[in-house]
Amino acid sequence: MNIPKSNFPRIIIIGGGFAGIALAKKLSKKEVQVVLLDKHNYHTFQPLLYQVSTGGLEPDSIAYPIRKVLKDFPNFIFRLAIVDEILTSKNIVKTNIGDLEFDYLVVATGSETNYYGNKEIEINSMAMKTIPQSLNLRSLILENFEQALLTDQYHERDALMNFVIVGAGPTGVELAGALAEIKKGILPKDYPDLDTRRVQINLIQSGDRILKEMSDKASEKAEQFLEELGVQIWKNMRVTNYDGKTVTTNTDDIFETAALIWTAGVKGVGLKGLDAKDLLGSGNRIMVNQFNQVKGFPNIFAIGDVACMQLEDAPFGHPMMAQPAIQQGKNLGDNLVRLLENKPLTPFVYKDKGSMATIGRNKAVVDMKNIRFQGVFAWFVWMYVHLFFLIGFRNRAVVFVNWVYNYVRFDREARLIIRPFNRNYDAFKD
Ligand SMILES: Cc1cc2nc3c(=O)[nH]c(=O)nc-3n(C[C@H](O)[C@H](O)[C@H](O)COP(=O)(O)OP(=O)(O)OC[C@H]3O[C@@H](n4cnc5c(N)ncnc54)[C@H](O)[C@@H]3O)c2cc1C
Repeated sequence: MNIPKSNFPRIIIIGGGFAGIALAKKLSKKEVQVVLLDKHNYHTFQPLLYQVSTGGLEPDSIAYPIRKVLKDFPNFIFRLAIVDEILTSKNIVKTNIGDLEFDYLVVATGSETNYYGNKEIEINSMAMKTIPQSLNLRSLILENFEQALLTDQYHERDALMNFVIVGAGPTGVELAGALAEIKKGILPKDYPDLDTRRVQINLIQSGDRILKEMSDKASEKAEQFLEELGVQIWKNMRVTNYDGKTVTTNTDDIFETAALIWTAGVKGVGLKGLDAKDLLGSGNRIMVNQFNQVKGFPNIFAIGDVACMQLEDAPFGHPMMAQPAIQQGKNLGDNLVRLLENKPLTPFVYKDKGSMATIGRNKAVVDMKNIRFQGVFAWFVWMYVHLFFLIGFRNRAVVFVNWVYNYVRFDREARLIIRPFNRNYDAFKD
């Protein structure tokens, strides 16, 4: 890996997501050598991935080069690497570019889509956890319409213009709202020779309400907003399979679609060497104590989505969201310095700043600790908060300008098939 030796202790951070970057910033200019490893050379702002998938934003405006985040930190080294395994007994990280010894290790690998063991759904559905996946989805959505133009058979067209989203958490709700706005504002102009009124957006939720982590009011209002936009919501329904054409459910309803989008769950990105059964908690996450220390390893820590800190008020760990990840990163940064100074560590205390989701133009729901609101004001708050947390002035400026442009013009100009997804459409032909 060609990492210079240092007189300072070496801390390896795996993952430059919200947690890893927050930790890195805390360790800048401290007496440690920090090596950050990530399989991408950029940080992804995942909350806006759905806007990339639906042509509202270009991918570069929600990504930021990790090297640029670290450019002013003299004690930092970044390597583009996929971590394969941790040799815990030897304090070694094994990667595709070589092995590296550590004094302290922080696992901040985030989460990945959870298919709950259904391989057929995994192979045939679309996920939206990374920028490449979002670009695949953008291409597929557009390619489905191009394909629909090629047939005069109504049932084939309908299947190609049917979008089925599984999971009505914030991601599913935001995606459904965005697709409904495209149906209304863009498709009739782009595809005048298709009857785009027949486009269907189906949102399937296994429980009895959407946005189940939010308040009843937010859930009801979001449902109302989606219905106004023409989204069909199916509650108390579980998808049992998808063979690439037909979606089957536990209620015996079936859907024919060329686009099943799976946003029904996530699980921790585990690593070989830290995958023993007794180390893992709910959702394949690594069990940690209140200092984010991994059980049985005083010099190994896990933070963010991949960490499961079971507490009385959080029996399944903290929500897999940006705020817990950022806050854990910051707390661990302080604790690592304290550890090196032989001072007692500070337990992590999560400050819940609330949650929010946008459904579309002028439509959002916000739950904060003491106040809940929905509608236009919530939408402005949603936009402000997302702009604030984006990394980089350029990204903020580009996203802001895009949003103003899209608002004024009722448009989403990034509807480009730059990297075709090339789905096989044979099953949709008679
Ligand atoms: C579509 C979507 C919308 C979301 N919307 C919201 C929202 O509105 N609000 C909110 O609070 N949260 C939202 N979230 C959740 C939020 O993005 C995550 O909780 C947050 O990113 C977790 O941060 P993290 O640092 O733990 O992991 P991540 O940000 O996922 O970062 C993990 C990093 O680890 C790297 N990595 C993983 N495995 C390896 C490996 N083996 N080797 C090297 N590098 C590796 C990855 O490349 C990545 O850079 C959303 C998530 C998604 C997918």
